[in-house]
Amino acid sequence: MSDKIEVKNPATGEVIATIAADNPKSVNAKLKAGYEAFKTFSKTTAYERAALLNHWAELILEHQEELATIMTKENGKPLKEAVGEVISTASYLTWFAEEAKRLYGRTIPAGTNNKRLMVTRQGIGLVAAITPWNFPAAMMTRKAGPALAAGCTFIVKPAEDTPLTMIRLVELAHKAGIPTDVVQIVNGRGADIGPLFTGSPYVRKITFTGSTPVGKLLIQQSAETMKGVSMELGGHAPFIVCEDADIDYVVTQAIASKFRNAGQTCICANRFLVHEAVIDEFSEKFAQAAKALKVGNGLEEGVEVGPVINKKGFDKIVAQIEDAKAKGATLLAGGTTHFDNEKGFYFVNPTVLGNVTLDMKIMQEETFGPVAPITPFKSDEEAIEIANSTPFGLAAYFFTDNYKRGIYFQENLDFGILGWNDGLPTAAQAPFGGMKESGIGSEGGTEGIEPYLQTKYLSIAGL
Ligand code: ADP
Repeated sequence: MSDKIEVKNPATGEVIATIAADNPKSVNAKLKAGYEAFKTFSKTTAYERAALLNHWAELILEHQEELATIMTKENGKPLKEAVGEVISTASYLTWFAEEAKRLYGRTIPAGTNNKRLMVTRQGIGLVAAITPWNFPAAMMTRKAGPALAAGCTFIVKPAEDTPLTMIRLVELAHKAGIPTDVVQIVNGRGADIGPLFTGSPYVRKITFTGSTPVGKLLIQQSAETMKGVSMELGGHAPFIVCEDADIDYVVTQAIASKFRNAGQTCICANRFLVHEAVIDEFSEKFAQAAKALKVGNGLEEGVEVGPVINKKGFDKIVAQIEDAKAKGATLLAGGTTHFDNEKGFYFVNPTVLGNVTLDMKIMQEETFGPVAPITPFKSDEEAIEIANSTPFGLAAYFFTDNYKRGIYFQENLDFGILGWNDGLPTAAQAPFGGMKESGIGSEGGTEGIEPYLQTKYLSIAGL
């Protein structure tokens, strides 16, 4: 286990901080402290917990510039997007502060007059979270918000690439009055910390956002102690454009869905399926809009697409572009890169690929980069067939002004999140979660608190 983590600015390769990593002893001590803290925190009222969550959200919003700047420096996303993420980070806390007050139970009619049957719900215990680098702040409060609202205690391990935003978020949680053992952070490599979380008898639940292979591993490891698991994993979103759609509008949504965070979100459009009657018009307008995007350091004014996170991500993106080109794809925009292996920064210019066929890697594997492959379809049935032909089922988008087609897509797409004429569907008050290998459970919405609760049934007799 290495004892230090270097945090780099992906736009320059410069080391911006070196932080201490936890070791097994310190992790176990924190897990024990979180377990002990549950005994008192779970007894607080929903109103007390709501007040703490609201106060934390206020402090996050007060510090939005500072948090966004830290985030842009360690993640690379444009500052404007980072500010947007900070606002959404707070919105999960305020949403779940309200949900805390609505954790109702129920009574059930008994079979005899001398009995009463009652159901209550309570927090599950200590929750251990592992979060990714692509949304260094929001992925934390989407888990911590409902966990704390339910009366759970919480410990989080941020991604090694982006721990600084999380360190500051946790400081603000404590400043807001949340006890230090109720929200804790540990730092370290995933493979070192993961087994300490999953193997600990103190932890009752594992919640994870990240890649599907790591999600599967965490589920396997959690089986030993029968921990609850919530998994928000990879995607391969289809973006379906029908011939009746308003193509200029669709292009604005396609740009937002594909190039936000340099294409590094699990709900980014990954496959553009366009009706053959409008594929030329869409491809031309989309490629033009992609070429106009300003690429650079996210701290600079007007930059719309930042670097990709690291060499591993970069290599995968470039390999997909090369594979597509080798199999006959044409470059309609981008295809070029700007990187420096020595300094350690990696940019991929917004890329649009035409003549794409389904055998190309990019049509099968998640890209996590600013590359848009376009392929035609002839009928809605064919679009559904292509869209569903993946083990992933996170987000899907479809664009049509015809309500019958819209409902057909809604009913037949095997994806947990759908955007109908909407390229940015995420909201704190709505459930976010995948089908198939994209995950287990939903975050956000009224659904988002369920995984942090356990049901207790009481039967009273002798009345
Ligand atoms: P990516 O490849 O995009 O970085 P990962 O799933 O590897 O996605 O990373 C998401 C989070 O999972 C990070 O916090 C990372 O440290 C953590 N992680 C990676 N490998 C493991 C592992 N073997 N066990 C537990 N957590 C892991």
